[in-house]
Order: sequence, then structure tokens, then C-alpha cells
Amino acid sequence: MIQFQSVHKAYRVAGREIPALQPTTLQIGSGQVFGIIGHSGAGKSTLLRLINRLEEPSGGRIEIDGVDVTALDATGLRRFRQQVGMIFQHFNLLSSKTVADNIAMPLRLAGELSRAEIDARVAELLGRVGLQDHANKYPAQLSGGQKQRVGIARALSTRPKILLCDEATSALDPQTTTAVLQLLAEINRELGLTIVLITHEMDVIRRVCDRVAVMDAGVIVEEGPVAEVFLHP
Ligand code: ADP
Ligand code: ADP
Repeated sequence: MIQFQSVHKAYRVAGREIPALQPTTLQIGSGQVFGIIGHSGAGKSTLLRLINRLEEPSGGRIEIDGVDVTALDATGLRRFRQQVGMIFQHFNLLSSKTVADNIAMPLRLAGELSRAEIDARVAELLGRVGLQDHANKYPAQLSGGQKQRVGIARALSTRPKILLCDEATSALDPQTTTAVLQLLAEINRELGLTIVLITHEMDVIRRVCDRVAVMDAGVIVEEGPVAEVFLHP
């Protein structure tokens, strides 16, 4: 379970405070697919990046499975980050590395598995995302949908409990979007991961999310089961 208690965030730029998230209290249950929707600048990305501490909160408390993640030291943070995978709109793959090496990267950095164990894990992940035949290709040789599948496999490499998706389908055509959303739903169903996704597209929320938070100007203006929140305008 992900729990925000009065979490707020302002960016400091050239001595000025730019408010991004007003004090927010929120619970995301284990195993949920939780969507966050809102216009550009609403604070979605800030909220998402607070979950894996890519951003530091200006105040408040963030607990993941009862652990206060704002209080972790460097070692604790490194371990915690292995429990939270993330995928991105523009995939963020390393262009000089093969598909297999991109997927293996978090495991190599963690340094906890042998080479053989890493190879086995990568082979299994390639199968899960349907890229068995593309292990030795480079990102430039792949379609957008295939690149995002590499991103997903890389995010799953450390066997996280949570997957954060930052506009993961916004750069994809409708057909590819459908396939990637199906893959995310499968990961939620079969592996039990909690998924938190941000999007500006209502349709993405409708198709995969259990619950949704609607954000505007750094505030969650509505939150609840998708069918209830979208019933009224
Ligand atoms: P969204 O993801 O909904 O587009 P963001 O969380 O990116 O919203 O942005 C919320 C607010 O914080 C916006 O006003 C944005 O300009 C500002 N902001 C986001 N990231 C930074 C940053 N690194 N430095 C300064 N301001 C930022
Ligand atoms: P096991 O404990 O035998 O690995 P699980 O039911 O936990 O069994 O998982 C079945 C398979 O699914 C695992 O072997 C692993 O390949 C994959 N898997 C499980 N959890 C995750 C996860 N969080 N991320 C990626 N793959 C996972």
C-alpha cells in the first residue's frame, strides 16, 4: 500500500518557489491499477516521482508498505528503488546497448545476481513482453511499441512490487497503445504488481484503471473508482 499523508511539493528555481503539489493525502491499495489524470502542469508527474523518491517532498510523509520512504538512507533507498519499476513516455532506453543489455542494466547495477542468473532473468522477461527474437537488436531497430516493451521488461527486472508509468502510451499509435495497455493489465493480474499510471487521456483510465485521481493545479479534485468518478462531469 502506498500512503501519502499531507505530502506537498514546491520546486525552488532561482530563489522562487514553484508550487507543484498542494498538501495531499492519498491511499493506493496493493494490487490496484491506479490512474492519475489531469492537464499538463497539474502535478501528475510530481506526484508519481514522489513515490520512488525521484523527487523529495517539501513536507509530509510517504509510506510504502508501512515504511517511511522519506527517511531512508542511501542504502535503504537503493534497495527500495528495486521494489519500484518505472516506464516513460519516450522509453529512456540506452541507444548504444542491445535490448538484452538494456533489460539487464538494473540487475547489473544492483550487483546481486550472477551473470548466469541475470541471463536467465532477461530471457524470461523477453518472453513475458514478447521480444524473444529481438534480444540482440538495438533500440533504433525497434518500433515504438517494441521499445516500450523493452522499457517494461527493464522495469520488471528487479521484480518490483510497484510499477510507475509516466505517460507510457502517449507516444504510441492507438493500436500499439491497446497492446501495451493489455500487457500492463496482464502484469497486474498475473504478477500482482500495483500499477500507478499518469495520463492526460480519459480512454487510458477507462481501459485499465480500477481507481482514478483527477488533478488540477496541484490538487486532487476527485478520487474514487473509475465508474463513479467518470459518471458525473
Ligand atoms: P504534470 O505532470 O501534470 O504535467 P508536473 O508535476 O510536471 O505536472 O508539474 C507541476 C508544476 O510543477 C508545473 O507548474 C511545472 O511547471 C512545475 N515543475 C515540474 N517540474 C519542475 C522542475 N523540475 N522545476 C521547476 N518546476 C517544475
Ligand atoms: P516464484 O516465487 O516461483 O518466482 P511467483 O508466482 O512469485 O513465483 O512468480 C512467478 C514468475 O513470475 C517468477 O518466476 C518470475 O519470473 C515472475 N515474477 C514474479 N514477480 C515478478 C515481478 N514483480 N516482476 C517481474 N517478474 C515477476
